[in-house]
Amino acid sequence: MRKKIVAGNWKMNMNLQDGVALAKELNETLTTEKPNCGVIICTPFIHLATVAQFLNQDVIGLGAENCADKEKGAYTGEVSAEMVKSTGAQYVILGHSERRGYYGETPEILKEKVQLALKNDLKVIFCIGESLEEREADKQNEVVKAELEGSVFNLTAEEFKNIIIAYEPIWAIGTGKTATAEQAEEIHAFIRSVVADKYGAEVADDTTILYGGSCKASNAPELFAKPDIDGGLIGGASLKVADFKGIIDAF
Ligand code: PGA
Repeated sequence: MRKKIVAGNWKMNMNLQDGVALAKELNETLTTEKPNCGVIICTPFIHLATVAQFLNQDVIGLGAENCADKEKGAYTGEVSAEMVKSTGAQYVILGHSERRGYYGETPEILKEKVQLALKNDLKVIFCIGESLEEREADKQNEVVKAELEGSVFNLTAEEFKNIIIAYEPIWAIGTGKTATAEQAEEIHAFIRSVVADKYGAEVADDTTILYGGSCKASNAPELFAKPDIDGGLIGGASLKVADFKGIIDAF
């Protein structure tokens, strides 16, 4: 049975002190009251090593929000997958629409990043999703399929088991506009069918597919009740323990 997961994506929020305080509070809360799903927090690079020291990783996994597309060397300002792994983190978000859109990350670049992450034993939360324009032109299926083909369908079935997919319609990210549970389920089921065509029904059945985009405690129960929605990737609502816990409690 595939894993249900609620993952936080802190993005570029909180300095080290505030981030550590949030992680500590979440750690205490979830160690006392164990969640009914996997929980992951993805933090800025600078938080990782400190948070890894006290985080109960049996309960809360730790991940980065990005890693470099190069192994090592003269790439000023970059952080490699190996460096991420050495902090104690186990996950990395790749392909977020903010990385694709603001930092020009192409399918080719993402393919390299995915390879390096897997080589360094990181599990990848791979984001896909269409823009409003593409949704209005009814191109969402085409877009998500191409994003998978462009960066992760070169993997072997064995490697693909380390991929968590996050479907995040760009028009729903940080906008307060959520896809309806029906809209989300429809495309999640499509994504699973695309994975099944490529890797077979068993792998597709075991693949966790998260929904992301203005997911909060009020809409999480309806979204997570859908058969092909296995949890969420949470931005804004992962920055306060009460909000994040409210979503985790939807399971
Ligand atoms: P949001 O962001 O929950 O703030 O919409 C989700 C994401 O971008 O991962």
